Amino acid sequence: MIKTILLKNRPEGKPSLSDFEFVIEDSNLKISEGEILLETIYVSVDPYLRGRMRDAKSYIPQFELNKPIQSGVIAKVLESKNEKFAVGDFVSGMLSWKTKQVSTGEGLIKVDGSKAPLSAYLGVLGMTGLTAYLGLNEIGKPVTGETLVVSGAAGAVGSVVGQIGKILGLRVVGIAGTDEKIEMLKTKFGFDAGINYNTSKNLVADLAKAAPNGVDLYFDNVGGPISDAVLFNINTFARLIICGAISVYNNTELPKSVSVQPFLIKNSALMQGFIVFNYAEKFPDAMKHLSGWLAEGKLTYTETIVDGFDNIPKAFIDLFEGKNKGKMIVKI
Ligand code: NAP
Repeated sequence: MIKTILLKNRPEGKPSLSDFEFVIEDSNLKISEGEILLETIYVSVDPYLRGRMRDAKSYIPQFELNKPIQSGVIAKVLESKNEKFAVGDFVSGMLSWKTKQVSTGEGLIKVDGSKAPLSAYLGVLGMTGLTAYLGLNEIGKPVTGETLVVSGAAGAVGSVVGQIGKILGLRVVGIAGTDEKIEMLKTKFGFDAGINYNTSKNLVADLAKAAPNGVDLYFDNVGGPISDAVLFNINTFARLIICGAISVYNNTELPKSVSVQPFLIKNSALMQGFIVFNYAEKFPDAMKHLSGWLAEGKLTYTETIVDGFDNIPKAFIDLFEGKNKGKMIVKI
């Protein structure tokens, strides 16, 4: 039996379970020369998938209606007619939300479960770790002693960004949605200060308190009013790294934000968006740093593991409710 999840509707506003359709097939998959048969082990759910559900041009192709959704997946090779992969290998790559599938192996990389838990290759040793490292270093160009503010700080990317900030000698302030998350940022990840944006009565003032020397670097995972508040606290030559804007991904109307230009002009500040895939040539170097720090115990991570293939859509929707700490992953 093979289960597949299709995109049934393009969500209007926040996605709902009815936007997804489960299909069950009773067939046995057969592989041809050059192919491998894969069994899904872990599925990554990520905020950017929301953008792929829209019918709008983006940096990555849109999902088609009534076709399987794809995301980062860790899978086990069950059968192989491809000399690059042996039975029992684990691979990571963009694969469909299916319990089993056939692949040519193109775009898949082998991952070693003896070096790190397999799920880590979807998080700190995968796309989110690379995003944190490359966004902070390539755009932020941090200098020891500077102050870094991270939004979405308790999530997959944010929790790694903050820790890299500490490794590089920055003062790190995290913004997240619950007191429990703020406590985790300080005790588990070594952030210097944290602000719960859901209980803060004045985010601009609270940021000024948490970053008394002003903000030199802002790693933005959320956009919207949180990022507006940061603008009021930036220093001359601040760098604003625009990684994500989850607070507006479900908007059905254009968001209302403050005008960024006066803030950028008077502070000679840089604001730059980025897509991690545009830095592919730097992945090996970034991975060397991330795995090295992980091995040395300088970097750690947390995961929210949801059990069961059927819960993939719910786990994805829960990202927009802040139900995850660290990387949200579904174990099949
Ligand atoms: P994540 O942070 O692990 O999960 C999403 C988190 O966003 C939630 O836990 C929630 O935490 C927060 N959130 C949800 N709705 C919010 C709202 N309305 N306002 C403020 N915060 C909200 O996800 P991730 O995978 O690490 O991704 C983080 C961001 O980076 C996303 O925007 C994603 O699209 C982006 N990203 C960009 C790239 C790139 O190449 N540019 C690559 C990977 C990810 P709270 O409880 O704190 O609200």
